[in-house]
Amino acid sequence: SVDCRQLVLNAMENQPYVTADHRLLVEFGREIVRGLEILARAADIDHVMLAVDMRRTDDYRDLLTDTEDDSIQRVALRPKYPIGADNILLKVLTRKEVPCGGIPADIGAGVIDAGTCFAAYRWVACGQRLNGRVVTISGNRPERSGNFFVPFGVDCGGLVQADEFSIIIGNPMTGLSSQGDVVVSPACNAILAIEPTPIGDAAPCIRCGWCRDHCPARLNVAALNDLYELGQIESAEKAGTLSCVECGVCSYICPARLPLAERLRQLKQTILRMRKTMPLFHESVGSQALRENA
Ligand code: SF4
Ligand code: SF4
Repeated sequence: SVDCRQLVLNAMENQPYVTADHRLLVEFGREIVRGLEILARAADIDHVMLAVDMRRTDDYRDLLTDTEDDSIQRVALRPKYPIGADNILLKVLTRKEVPCGGIPADIGAGVIDAGTCFAAYRWVACGQRLNGRVVTISGNRPERSGNFFVPFGVDCGGLVQADEFSIIIGNPMTGLSSQGDVVVSPACNAILAIEPTPIGDAAPCIRCGWCRDHCPARLNVAALNDLYELGQIESAEKAGTLSCVECGVCSYICPARLPLAERLRQLKQTILRMRKTMPLFHESVGSQALRENA
């Protein structure tokens, strides 16, 4: 059982291009706040917060005005990346850290997004189940761009006509390159057609330490990259890989152009999969699993 005492609506959408939640808050702010109240009441939570980007407070002026109708605490925060990551936002708001490999409920908190609140409002207040979500379609040179309500199950590739561009599903720093056959799901907040930037081949790590200095989870990313290359999954798990919030900062900053975030993501997936299937495993087995996962 989970003892959840705090519920946070995370509206800190602070990645380039993506404005799906922002648009939803501008057009359906009141309904979203009602949805947040509904979910809090259903979960018997009385400490409820709404966290928004302080650059957008003018757009949400009505929404951010405290009223006697609800007890929601409104907070406008500086959009320092990656504050939109749930675990980082909770650390800023509560001064508590989600334990490595844990979830927000481990510190008594729940985090939801604007789309979930809107869906709750529509279901409870209007009796309508949402069969789609608002998706940002954008990029450097997209055929068309904007925020659109897209039914679940629609083929993502067909929405952007990307031609020679890369298609990213989700946020540009943390999303996944589409390999085709990806459809719009409740988690799909953006479909981006981005011109590939030639960045050259990765070089060996030069031990500059920038990745560790800038990692919001305070991970020794270069050491984890070594463990990835050696296939030492168990050691990578002990070194805190599951604390990675997949923000992409390490890849962005690495002068050797190493795909660090992608490697950390693969390590996490491998660890989580092996935790499910093999609670006890040896590093030789982990190495093989990583190769299969790559
Ligand atoms: S993606 Fe990189 S910088 Fe971001 S939390 Fe993970 S290891 Fe740290
Ligand atoms: S930023 Fe790149 S080159 Fe520098 S220590 Fe980290 S992995 Fe190595």
